[in-house]
Amino acid sequence: MASCPICRKADADPKYKPFCSRRCSDVDLQRWFTGAYAIPVALDEGAQDDDEKEGLGAGQAEKPPL
Ligand SMILES: [Zn+2]
Repeated sequence: MASCPICRKADADPKYKPFCSRRCSDVDLQRWFTGAYAIPVALDEGAQDDDEKEGLGAGQAEKPPL
């Protein structure tokens, strides 16, 4: 059974899935508007990690700034 992601109540109303009620659905919408769901920078960090490994393999630590 899915629980409400807002208030963690176990019995979510199928009408407002995945939320338990209209109220929690509204709360989620508010979070979107206020940027609580901003995309994390994890992708950026991963790219940097790849660059480092490639640099070491090619024997070139850093590219000169253009
Ligand atoms: Zn709820």
